Amino acid sequence: MADVAIYGSGFAGYTMTAAALEQGQRVIVVERGPRANRQRSVDLARIRSPWELVQSGGRGGGEFGPDDRTPRLFCLGGTSLLWAGKWRRLDAVDFCRRSASRAWPITVRDLEPFYRAAADRFGLDIDDRADMAPVRTIVEASGLRLVRIALPQPVLRLDQAWANLETHPNLQVFTDVERLDFELSQGEVKRAFAKVGNDGECIEISASRHVITAGGIASPYLIHRLSGRKSETPKPFLGGYMDHPKGPIGRLMPTRHIDDLDYMLVSRDDIHVFALPEAELLESGIGNHSVFVWGETRRDQSLRSRICGRWLQLNINCEQFPDPANGISLDDPPEVRWRISSATRRDIDAFLDRILPRISALFGPVKRADWVAMTGASHPAGCTPLSASPLGAELHADGQLPTLANAFCVSSSGFPFAGSANPTLTVVALAERLAQTWCPG
Ligand SMILES: Cc1cc2nc3c(=O)[nH]c(=O)nc-3n(C[C@H](O)[C@H](O)[C@H](O)COP(=O)(O)OP(=O)(O)OC[C@H]3O[C@@H](n4cnc5c(N)ncnc54)[C@H](O)[C@@H]3O)c2cc1C
Repeated sequence: MADVAIYGSGFAGYTMTAAALEQGQRVIVVERGPRANRQRSVDLARIRSPWELVQSGGRGGGEFGPDDRTPRLFCLGGTSLLWAGKWRRLDAVDFCRRSASRAWPITVRDLEPFYRAAADRFGLDIDDRADMAPVRTIVEASGLRLVRIALPQPVLRLDQAWANLETHPNLQVFTDVERLDFELSQGEVKRAFAKVGNDGECIEISASRHVITAGGIASPYLIHRLSGRKSETPKPFLGGYMDHPKGPIGRLMPTRHIDDLDYMLVSRDDIHVFALPEAELLESGIGNHSVFVWGETRRDQSLRSRICGRWLQLNINCEQFPDPANGISLDDPPEVRWRISSATRRDIDAFLDRILPRISALFGPVKRADWVAMTGASHPAGCTPLSASPLGAELHADGQLPTLANAFCVSSSGFPFAGSANPTLTVVALAERLAQTWCPG
């Protein structure tokens, strides 16, 4: 019998596994995807999205034809083999949002030690840069907030990390798991049965704890299977799905503070984005959207020749507030019914009314786009939110399923609100936080 069984091997599953092994626990990892078969990983990861297209422009985009713009990847290492590698925390304001039925049950302060543990585990520098202090002062004096995103090179992918971890004597990894069934008894998961590989060998998984780490779309499906109501027809629909739609909002002609703009361009191992001050967001209720400045990234020309006299594109990454109509039907493959509502559009307009004049006052003329054409950003979140008093598919603050004492979930599906920060650092911090509750003493 293992101490922990972990279902999914992306950043959440990898972090849970590494942390549990460090505690001396015996770990079984169950991964639906293959070790190395890219086409199969893409095929398994496909979803249906009949409303807005939920798709990525990631590394895999186009590699297997126009259909492979999958918003996730099923393999050992999960979506890390596809992602862009941008690390950013949620902001304090994201933890303060409230609606009638949801709120983060923890604060940014509660999570701070685990953001740090996550950074230590993956060798990340997530602090503000000291040499940015003068720029920050100028930006803040103009009523803007500057947010750093770490983008270490090369981008961290988990295939090599798993190869290193797999030599551990307390670890067993099963890939190509076709089917999973759970046996429940007296408010606990007693064991799981998995059909593995081409020959369909059935293995029995006994563990003291079971942790779902299957990503923001598949985790709700597994939680539903664990609820014991798997044969329902039609399949239940979980609302509150959020993504970070993104798109071009206008163009900037830099005429002032040109050297400072270099910090905004995606041409180094970190980038900075503009946001509104957090107090203003709380007071106005406007979403915590981020503005990216896109510019020529070639380093073989001087900055001035790269950006002077040229229009630079301004892009937005949006916060979407949870909406019961946006959600996942708990089918296999799942159907993600997601759209950018008129309320989100109005919120973005209110944000642009405020932020674009400030960017213009600081750097130069801005031309606002007539219409923001947005796509999904492959950051699924919100369908099984953490809650102080969880009901239905919601989770306790540590990720525990309310009806099963030894079952947990760590995923962006647990975010009650998702700001516009890239989600993985927060997923990893939540994994570190759950693992810490198992530390003896
Ligand atoms: C193109 C792209 C770019 C991105 N860029 C960024 C970025 O720059 N920064 C950022 O923070 N985030 C980014 N993301 C999001 C990021 O990839 C996810 O936040 C992160 O991968 C989540 O990790 P996870 O472990 O929760 O899920 P995943 O990495 O998706 O891993 C889940 C694993 O669970 C497995 N699984 C699914 N169902 C089952 C089952 N039934 N049984 C067993 N295993 C199962 C899957 O095969 C998969 O391997 C990007 C996403 C995409 C698509």
